Amino acid sequence: MEYRHILIATDLHQENIEVALKAQQLAKHYSASLSLVHVVESLLGYASSYGGIANLEEEIKQEAIVKLAELGQRVGVDVASQHLDFGSPKIIILEVAKNINADLLIVGSHGRHGLGLLLGSTASAIVHAAHIDILVVHLKKDKM
Ligand code: AMP
Repeated sequence: MEYRHILIATDLHQENIEVALKAQQLAKHYSASLSLVHVVESLLGYASSYGGIANLEEEIKQEAIVKLAELGQRVGVDVASQHLDFGSPKIIILEVAKNINADLLIVGSHGRHGLGLLLGSTASAIVHAAHIDILVVHLKKDKM
């Protein structure tokens, strides 16, 4: 079985570079396409308490675009294959995987949501819901 299109889900934290570098190696091995997805979690839940939520979301989005582009450059993913969206990471990541016909999804074992867990909540939700292969790259908690 050869993978043709590998999708990296990145929370854009420093440790996630390890995930992206492994994905890059695999893509090379299989001569597969490589795409990136980052989801900005919506701040709408805070809208009633804080003003200027749209501005804040725009700021976060702009920062994420820059970071995603930097990561893309580092692992050889061009802008057209860098996906950025708002919402729930586990839902959007699987939607993007489906839309681009990815056949392997790569996530880190931990991120912001998973520090106290065996497997981060995003990684865990994805493993349960996905219909494609998932590679969970083990990230050491003490590095975070
Ligand atoms: P967590 O559930 O926060 O512990 O994260 C586990 C892994 O899910 C991370 O290492 C990333 O690969 C992926 N992930 C988490 N949050 C996001 C996000 N906002 N966008 C894309 N991928 C994410």
